[in-house]
Amino acid sequence: MTARRPQSRHCGRTVFAMLRVYNSMTRTKEEFIPIRPGEVSVYSCGPTVYDEPHIGNWRSFVIFDVIRRYLKSKGFKVTFVQNITDIDDKIIKRANETGVHPTVLADRFTATYLEQARILGNEPADVHPRATEHVGEIIELIQCLIDKGFAYAAGGDVYFDTSHFKTYGALSGQPIEELEAGARVEIGEMKKSPLDFTLWKARKPGEIYWDSPWGEGRPGWHIECSAMSMKYLGDSIDIHTGGVDLKFPHHENERAQSEAATGKQFVKYWLHVGFLQIGGERMGKSLGNFLTLSEMMKKYDPMAIRFYLISAHYRSPLNYSEELLQSSAAGLKRLQNTVSMLSHMVTAAPPGQDAAWQELLRGFKTRFYEAMDDDFNTADAIAVLFDIAKAANTYRGDIKREMARETLSLFEELGKILGLKFLDAKAAGGDTELVEGLLRILLDLREEARKGKDWKTADHIRDALSSLGITIEDTPLGPRYRR
Ligand code: AMP
Ligand code: ZN
Repeated sequence: MTARRPQSRHCGRTVFAMLRVYNSMTRTKEEFIPIRPGEVSVYSCGPTVYDEPHIGNWRSFVIFDVIRRYLKSKGFKVTFVQNITDIDDKIIKRANETGVHPTVLADRFTATYLEQARILGNEPADVHPRATEHVGEIIELIQCLIDKGFAYAAGGDVYFDTSHFKTYGALSGQPIEELEAGARVEIGEMKKSPLDFTLWKARKPGEIYWDSPWGEGRPGWHIECSAMSMKYLGDSIDIHTGGVDLKFPHHENERAQSEAATGKQFVKYWLHVGFLQIGGERMGKSLGNFLTLSEMMKKYDPMAIRFYLISAHYRSPLNYSEELLQSSAAGLKRLQNTVSMLSHMVTAAPPGQDAAWQELLRGFKTRFYEAMDDDFNTADAIAVLFDIAKAANTYRGDIKREMARETLSLFEELGKILGLKFLDAKAAGGDTELVEGLLRILLDLREEARKGKDWKTADHIRDALSSLGITIEDTPLGPRYRR
């Protein structure tokens, strides 16, 4: 079989190159060197919980999860913090419109977020801090900024004084004049400059509020992330993530207020996810062009949706179209069928290993890690999965038991990094291993019946499985099933 098999582009050894990440701050790909060797701190901007997230939001949240999984797979001890914005203008507006208390509304959609994250295969953060539970820390940080001359109180509000922070605008890379031209001052605001931003908002009638040294009110949005990042991860962190829309003003403001308060670098690497677009335009709640996960799940398996969301490099825009989703679903199915075939071969194929096959697998593995080391290139990493499947299908007749086992475990290792499950969990009712095991028992019983010429029992098993959407295929290696 060696002569027929395509040669691996790599000759043998698995070499893990260094990880390079695109840093929005320097606008270059840099070697990733964490602040503390072996440890990585990640702060990821989480959802504003006034409604169900749309799949554009999910693109960002799923990518953050893949980045975290990959860092872990490289042996880093990762601490991943993702906030829940449970108080802001949108929550108050929606609460007023629906007559639901803002806290009840936020709790409801926090639960929705966490449940949908689970369904999509995201691991829960190490901490999911909520803004309303950190008002004390937020007030302390604002006071520190006032004491250091970086913030001022006016009319019950507190504003950050951007003119005092010399490198304001460095993250978004735009000149101050351009940022100023795009900034707006809302009615009633008493900012010194349109670029100054609110740290504390004075209470408005009917709004939820907390006591503070500047009167009753509530925190601004940007300050919550600085306060919670510092509380759980320290003054300086390795990675801060968000969608590209957060670069300005949210992250620019987070950076300004954090570095003004501590005098230290706030974030070493800023990572921003490109938009999921529909008809060439960003998908967004305010644009009304969005789809939720619940809507998508009526048609597609959550794993297929995840597969689609990571199918492009994270910094490129990703278009939404039915065709792309269908092709992602079909692609995932191809991988699942290969994995199912291999798991069948682990028991049905004759024992045996093959050094050339092992070398081929090592080559695939190297390519996968190289793709991920190149700024988390999931698109190229997924292409490697298809190449493994192609090789396994091309040489299925030659694959022996140990070869199948090793290929399966490679699928499992690489799938885990992307958060993908290749055994069809939905079809298996969520208990894949058990169902796979039961199916094998039925197939063995059918084989015994056939050997004993008990066609009635054999046909009964085949027809009963067929009515459940499971087809039995008789192959030279024995029967296997396909969903
Ligand atoms: P929000 O709940 O609005 O604060 O957004 C949650 C996350 O989704 C943030 O990181 C946003 O940058 C990100 N996001 C919003 N819209 C999109 C989109 N169309 N594509 C990708 N990410 C998005
Ligand atoms: Zn944030």
